[in-house]
Amino acid sequence: MRLIADTHTHTIASTHAYGTVIEMARGAAEKGLPILGMTDHAPSMPDSPDLWHFGNLRQLPPVIEGVRVLRGCELNLMDCTGKVDLDEHFLQKMEWVVCSMHPEVIAPGSVEENTEAVLNLLKNPYVDVFGHPGANCYRFDYERVVPLFKDSGKYIEFNASSVTFREGAAENMFTIAKLCKEHRVEVIVNTDAHSPFRVGEFEKATDILAAADFPEELIVNADLGRFEKALANRRVPVSL
Ligand SMILES: [Zn+2]
Ligand SMILES: [Zn+2]
Repeated sequence: MRLIADTHTHTIASTHAYGTVIEMARGAAEKGLPILGMTDHAPSMPDSPDLWHFGNLRQLPPVIEGVRVLRGCELNLMDCTGKVDLDEHFLQKMEWVVCSMHPEVIAPGSVEENTEAVLNLLKNPYVDVFGHPGANCYRFDYERVVPLFKDSGKYIEFNASSVTFREGAAENMFTIAKLCKEHRVEVIVNTDAHSPFRVGEFEKATDILAAADFPEELIVNADLGRFEKALANRRVPVSL
């Protein structure tokens, strides 16, 4: 399987990452990826850039080093009500939005509380990707929630970095993969690269999908036409 976009990556604007936007784009070009998502951490994370970073993304051209760079962010889900850490003024400027749960921002809850949080994430029209959903500490009711992603315009992420360091992620993502397959829910595969060297290193995530005998046509970034259609059909038109 060949993937055409890596839509969850961090530049040095998130201070525990190590590549400039040019270096990250070059990393994508070297891997033959025509599309890269630049999704630095929204302001609640300790390593996040100033709010101004998110308001000034129009300074970047759409194509860098021959790669289409989507100007985006990784939002934090902050509580069960679905509160996030960038308001509409900023979200309207985003071409791509990942939204994730991080222990630095949202304390792990009970399965019921985590489920409520994810159900509220589903209601946010600005979110494109539910980032690294597999951690044990954020276990939610997979059987109930995963089918609701079908045709929601949001993609469940298979995150290559997460499966190596988030406890339970590999096993839980296998369960989620089987549910997505059963209910025909589209997913996305990303690296969450924090350096140019990791861009396009999808194997840890694609291994899980392969083990689940996952249908390629349900992977939104496994085909350029499919992904471009998803971009064109985003619920929220971008106003830079
Ligand atoms: Zn994250
Ligand atoms: Zn990330």
